[in-house]
Amino acid sequence: MSQEDANLEARLAEQEAFEPPESFVEQANVTEQGIYEEFEENWPECWERAADLLSWDEAYDTVLEDGNAPFYEWFTGGELNASYNCLDRHVAEGRGDSVAIEWEGELGEERTYTYDELLAEVEDFAATLRGLGVEEDDIVTLYMPMIPELPIAMLACARIGAPHSVVFAGFSADALATRMNSADSEYLVTCDGYYRRGDALDHISKANEGLAGVEHAVSDVVVVDRLGDDLEHDLTDNQHDYDELVADHEGSTVEPVSRDAEDMLFLMYTSGTTGKPKGVKHTTGGYLAYSAWTSHAVLDIEADDTYWCSADIGWITGHSYIVYGPLALGTTSVMYEGTPDYPDKDRLWEIVEKNGVDIFYTAPTAIRAFMKWGEEYTQNHDLSSLRLLGTVGEPINPRAWKWYYKHIGNEECPIVDTWWQTETGGMMITTLPGINTMKPGSAGPPLPGIDARVVDAQGEEVDAGQAGYVTVNNPWPGMLRTLYDNDERFIQEYWDEYSDEETDEWVYFPEDGAKIDDDGYITILGRVDDVINVSGHRLGTMEIESAVVGVEGIAEAAVVGGDHEVKGEAVYVYAIPEDGYEDREAELEEEAMEAVLDSIGPIAKPEEIVFTHELPKTRSGKIMRRLLEDIASGNELGNTSTLRNPDVVDDIAAQVETD
Ligand code: ATP
Ligand code: MG
Repeated sequence: MSQEDANLEARLAEQEAFEPPESFVEQANVTEQGIYEEFEENWPECWERAADLLSWDEAYDTVLEDGNAPFYEWFTGGELNASYNCLDRHVAEGRGDSVAIEWEGELGEERTYTYDELLAEVEDFAATLRGLGVEEDDIVTLYMPMIPELPIAMLACARIGAPHSVVFAGFSADALATRMNSADSEYLVTCDGYYRRGDALDHISKANEGLAGVEHAVSDVVVVDRLGDDLEHDLTDNQHDYDELVADHEGSTVEPVSRDAEDMLFLMYTSGTTGKPKGVKHTTGGYLAYSAWTSHAVLDIEADDTYWCSADIGWITGHSYIVYGPLALGTTSVMYEGTPDYPDKDRLWEIVEKNGVDIFYTAPTAIRAFMKWGEEYTQNHDLSSLRLLGTVGEPINPRAWKWYYKHIGNEECPIVDTWWQTETGGMMITTLPGINTMKPGSAGPPLPGIDARVVDAQGEEVDAGQAGYVTVNNPWPGMLRTLYDNDERFIQEYWDEYSDEETDEWVYFPEDGAKIDDDGYITILGRVDDVINVSGHRLGTMEIESAVVGVEGIAEAAVVGGDHEVKGEAVYVYAIPEDGYEDREAELEEEAMEAVLDSIGPIAKPEEIVFTHELPKTRSGKIMRRLLEDIASGNELGNTSTLRNPDVVDDIAAQVETD
């Protein structure tokens, strides 16, 4: 490192606040300092500004209907179609030749879809779905990796008013079956397989296994042929080849169905930390307005930008910020099929350079991996097209933030650290890049119009610097409307904790811990309940534990997250063998690994399985996961005084060290 570099590093390491670069501010979409007050004073009418980003078939009468809170309704009386907003209107404005999706396969193939072409593909597939009998309000499950047919299928569903339910392709067969069962979904669109690190991965076998677990009749399955000759597979009676089926509908015109603003656009199941996954319902008007507004105000997207969010469409981030938000704004959205280190660790920077990407949105776990790989992978690429960077999914530590700022953004791009959830539909807490000072490690203030607070157990706002819980004290257009077919659980999960039904005051509880500073900047501390965040994928401890104890010979298990340099957290399993199985640990370990892979998927693969004769428990019999987390992370052990069996902690720690 040269002296100059060393000085720079030292300066960066100490700097706690960063002003948005002048060059960015000059061109930013939102720069009015008064926007926070304006939204507060005109709430809820301020949200018309979001709705105005869309084209409505029928104007709405009321911005917010709160008569049946917390079942809020937004833009009531309005009608619109999401696929029309993402496609037709840009074509009508003469932008049909602009690129909508720039797709790159892992092996280097490229497919470019202009708005004209994407609209044609969407109409063909919409006609195909109708041909199979899909009707308005039928839920269509999409179990697909990052191939263009996924957004095409989503928009085709939206066009005919059939809500989609996308299941992340990395999820297991069981996960697919659970979600199809929960949504009573009778249609599935999937593919034969896809490429990962150059290998052809079989996906259809997993889909078939999942289908075998669906409790109702599945009427049709459409299978995209992604791998050609690289994978041989047979189609059963109700399975159709995508291309063959679509060929019969080529050149179709399918009028977009006018949907009520409150009609469901899609269902998205959360990771299911607390047992059964939650089917989050998002609507056509509020969700689309909110994802478009935040894409405009936070990601600073404009129609002539090339924008890239490297998330998977199987998560909410991909729904809101690869598909709906960016396409509603008529921009070019980049989509990449594969991993960031194939064929080499500079793949993403090669894509940025080649496409002249203006805006890049990724997850802290990815940034930590780039950091670990080293600067040399960024240095040979011209990243000067970038003007804004973003992160989402977990807290970003200041060191990773600064690395991103310097080595990717060249100190010329603001970074937005965006806190939000599947349930919120879009970003909630983040700086506005053209306005606010950035503080690495802190997401920032709540967005204009969002009344997020940090409160104590009684709901009173905590003092600056104190830890508390995030609440959101007023509704917003992108909010979930309910959990599919389960209004009761919707109330119980999100509203029970802090609302007062008597006074009709409804407070949304996201179940995250946080701190707030004197400037109102919120630092997210993590979840209230146990959850493991592996490379940005949130895994429920309960789910993994139940897989492990499903193995014959394992009596009890506790699953915790331990710190991991790259993944953020890794899965550690502590298990107690049943009597008589003590000398068969190797066997049990193998079976437990397999059980986890089968029931959740490879993302949940345990880093280590430790066998012990006992688990640390409180007097009331609850496993003290905090202590196990400390052991897994190699931390000093916390207070053991409330334990029923304090000695066991030292035993386990000693065992982990010798393993
Ligand atoms: P489930 O609710 O089933 O457990 P999940 O909460 O893991 O699923 P998501 O909705 O994708 O699934 O994740 C939202 C959570 O991610 C937030 O509640 C928060 O804990 C975390 N998160 C997201 N963005 C940020 C961020 N910028 N900073 C800190 N944490 C974040
Ligand atoms: Mg959650």
